[in-house]
Amino acid sequence: MSEFEDTERQNQFLLESNLRLQRILNSLPVAMIGVDTEGRIFEMNDAAQTQFGYPHFEVFEASIAEIVLGEEDREEFTSRLQEAVEADRHINFELPAVTKDGNRLMVDWNVMPMKGMNGAVSSVRLVASDITERVMQADRLRDLAFKDALTGLCNRRSFMDAVGTVGERSQGTPCSVILMDVDKFKNYNDTYGHPDGDTLLRRIGDILGASLRDPYLPARFGGEEFVVLLPGADEEQAFRVAERLRLGIEEQTQDLRGSTVSLGVSTTYDLRRDADLIIEQADQALYRSKHNGRNQTSRWSVDLAA
Ligand code: GH3
Ligand code: MG
Ligand code: MG
Repeated sequence: MSEFEDTERQNQFLLESNLRLQRILNSLPVAMIGVDTEGRIFEMNDAAQTQFGYPHFEVFEASIAEIVLGEEDREEFTSRLQEAVEADRHINFELPAVTKDGNRLMVDWNVMPMKGMNGAVSSVRLVASDITERVMQADRLRDLAFKDALTGLCNRRSFMDAVGTVGERSQGTPCSVILMDVDKFKNYNDTYGHPDGDTLLRRIGDILGASLRDPYLPARFGGEEFVVLLPGADEEQAFRVAERLRLGIEEQTQDLRGSTVSLGVSTTYDLRRDADLIIEQADQALYRSKHNGRNQTSRWSVDLAA
């Protein structure tokens, strides 16, 4: 066999094994991208082309960061890529990507540096797993656990968690609670129907959400009862907030045939110790508002405890 034929056979063999490798890469159900050490794309398997919406020829030699990363994530992506190349180490991180159509995906990136013939890192293989569904499902589960489905506000449980957290770090500073209950809501439901009752509750939730800024935290406490935690607010400040909410709700529910709320305010300087107590006291103050004719705010005072 001549030397020429020998080289020919070797070339043929290399070509075929390269083709086999391509087929394997393309049959994998996960997006894989090959880039050089500068992040320029030289290879994208079928799954990656489908996932990101680019045919291979369109992105050949283009910078991966510019093609599939949103502008705000490019710098971080590039520095993680460099980190993997310089340390010759496999790294893994989550960073959103953007498809050709502009869809945002959450991606789990596996970055694997590959050594060339001379033993130095010459390219990088990236596995880009689309975890958007998983992340969204985790978000949905978190929402179900911590948010009230009707109003989108915090539910009672996450409100109580927040009370615990704030209590841990607010020793010696005032903290107030406003408890609020819709007036004659049974009547409202009976007159206009339960779905309209729900609409009213949703509106109240919106008003609370829009009227209060961090760190003030509104929540649906249950049924037609709402609660607000006001870290840093003394009784006077909390009373003013409560009155603002009361008037806001009266005014901004007119188009829903109007409704009013009654409120109770209570304050402590030791939330960790008094977490349950101030809610109880706010409830007693609220009861006084109801008793005195509704559509008003009362503060807790010692005589209420009797
Ligand atoms: P008061 O002024 O004394 O608070 O009178 P009220 O009628 O509001 O008080 P009551 O506790 O008797 O009625 C509360 C009503 O709230 C009864 C219940 O059917 C209604 N309710 C509780 N949760 C919901 C809800 O999620 N949606 C609707 N539409 N109604 C609810
Ligand atoms: Mg009630
Ligand atoms: Mg009520």
